[in-house]
Amino acid sequence: MKQKTIVLLAIFFFLSVSGLILIQLYWIRNAINITDQQFRYQANKALEAVVLNMEESELINKILEEVNPANSDSVTAIIPANSPIARKLQGYRPNSDLLEMYGLIDPNQPIIVGKSGQKIIISAEDTSPFQVEDSPEFQSQSIQAGLSGRVTNKIVFLENIMEKIFRETPDIRNRVNLENVNRKLREALNNVAIHLNYEFAIRSGRSIIIKTPGFNDRVGTNKFMRQLFPNDPVPGQNQIVMYFMQEKQYKFEKIGSLGFLSLIFTALLLVLSTGTFIVIFRQKKLSEIRNDFINNMTHELKTPISTISLASQMLADKSIPSEKKDTDNLAKVISDESTRLKYQVEKVLQMAIFEKVKLRLILTEIDVHRIIERVIENFRLQVNSRNGLILTDFQAENSIAKIDEVHFMNTISNLIDNAIKYSKERPEITISTRNNKKGILISVEDKGIGISKENIKRIYDKFYRVPSGNVHNVKGFGLGLSYVKKVVEDHNGTIKVESQTGKGTKFTVFIPKTGHI
Ligand code: ADP
Repeated sequence: MKQKTIVLLAIFFFLSVSGLILIQLYWIRNAINITDQQFRYQANKALEAVVLNMEESELINKILEEVNPANSDSVTAIIPANSPIARKLQGYRPNSDLLEMYGLIDPNQPIIVGKSGQKIIISAEDTSPFQVEDSPEFQSQSIQAGLSGRVTNKIVFLENIMEKIFRETPDIRNRVNLENVNRKLREALNNVAIHLNYEFAIRSGRSIIIKTPGFNDRVGTNKFMRQLFPNDPVPGQNQIVMYFMQEKQYKFEKIGSLGFLSLIFTALLLVLSTGTFIVIFRQKKLSEIRNDFINNMTHELKTPISTISLASQMLADKSIPSEKKDTDNLAKVISDESTRLKYQVEKVLQMAIFEKVKLRLILTEIDVHRIIERVIENFRLQVNSRNGLILTDFQAENSIAKIDEVHFMNTISNLIDNAIKYSKERPEITISTRNNKKGILISVEDKGIGISKENIKRIYDKFYRVPSGNVHNVKGFGLGLSYVKKVVEDHNGTIKVESQTGKGTKFTVFIPKTGHI
C-alpha cells in the first residue's frame, strides 16, 4: 500500500473516531442533564406536596378545633327550600336510599329531618312558619325561632373559622414541627422514588426556625426551596430549604456505569487504533528499509563479483596472447575486489552476529595507536586514488587499552570508511587521540558533507541512512554506525558526534582503560 493511502486512511479513521467520541460525549452530557432535570423535578414535586400537605392539615386542624366534640353531634344543615340541592332531595322518590338516610319520608313536606343527632332543615320558600308535629325527637318549639338561631349559629361558626384563617396568622414557630415535617418529607420523597438522605431547615426570612441536626447553610450545595403556607392572606417569608447528601453520587450511579463503560471502550478504541496505525507505519518503514538494504547489498556484492569474473575471464581467454595480458594488474584487480567483497560480506555478517547474540568480546591489552595505523594502511590506496589525505595526531601518552582487537578494528575502519564515503572529491581525514583521566579518546574527523540536526539523532539506528546518502550515490547498508555504537558501549565506552552540514563531521570514541567491566 502506498504511504499516501495509509496516511489518508489514518486521517479518515481518526476523523470518524473523533466524530464518534464527540457524539458520545454529547449523549453523555445530555443524559446527565436529563437525569439532573428529572431529579430536580421529582425533588421539587415532593417539596411541593409537603408544602401543600402542611397547609391542608393546618386548615383541617383549624376547622376541627372549631367543630369541637361538644357540639358536633348536633350539626345542622339548613337548606333553603328553593335551593337546587333541596329540589334535588325533594325530587327523590320516598323510598330512595338518600331520602331514607336523611329521614325524608314525604318529600312534599318541607320538614326538618333528624336522625341520630343530625338534622336537615328544608326551609319553606316563604318565611311563614311551618308546623312540626310533636314528637319525642323534636320538642315543640317555634321553628322560626329555632331556625334563625341556628342560622346565626352557623354564621358565627363559619365566621370563627374565617377569622382563624384570615385574621390570625400564628407565629411560624407554632405552625411547624420538625418530626412532623420530616415524616411528611420522607413520605413525599419515597413517593417519587428518591431514597437519599437529606437535611432540611425551615427559615423565616434569614433566621432558621427549625433544622435537622446535620443541616448546613453553606453555599455551593444544590438546594431546593419552597415557600411555606403560600396561601396565607399575607404570605410570610417562610421557606423550607432542603438538600441531599449524596446527590452527585446518586446521579453518577444512574448514568455512571453506562457512561463509564462507553468512555472505557472509546479510550480502548482510540489506543488500539493508534497502536494499529503505528504498527502499520513501522511495518511500512521497515519494508522500505529492507528493500533499500537488499538493493544496496545486491549492488555492493554484485559489483566486485562481476569485476572478478571479468578479470578471470580475461586471464582465461586463450585468444589473447599471454604477453598482452596485464597479468599483474588483473591479479591486483581480483585481489582488491575480493578484499572488498570480503569486507562487505563481513559487514553483513557482523550485523547478523550482533542481531542474534550478544557480542562476546575477547579483551586484551592492546596499543590503540598501532591498530589505528593498521586500519589507515588499508584505506591508504583508496584515499590516494581520490587525491585525499589521512592525517594522524596521536596525543595520547597512554595508548594501551583493554579492548577486543577484531571488533575495535572494525569500529575504526567503519568510522574511516564513512569519513571517506561522505567526503566530497578529496577526502581530508584527521585521526587524533588523547587521554583523559579514565581512558583514551579517539576522534575521526572529516571535512565532508556533514549531517543535519534532524538526522543526527537517528544515525545509530539500524538500517538508517540519511536520505541524501543515496543522492550522493554512496552505497551502504545503514548498519555501520549501529554496530560501532554497540561495540563501543560493550567496551563500557561512549561515542559522540559533532557535525555541521557542508563543513564536516567528527566522531569521538571514548574507551576506558579497563575496557569491559
Ligand atoms: P551507511 O552504510 O549508510 O554508511 P552507517 O550506519 O555507517 O550506514 O551510517 C548511517 C548514516 O549516517 C549514513 O547513511 C550517512 O548518511 C551518515 N553518516 C555516517 N558517517 C558520516 C560522516 N562521516 N559524514 C556524513 N554523514 C555520515
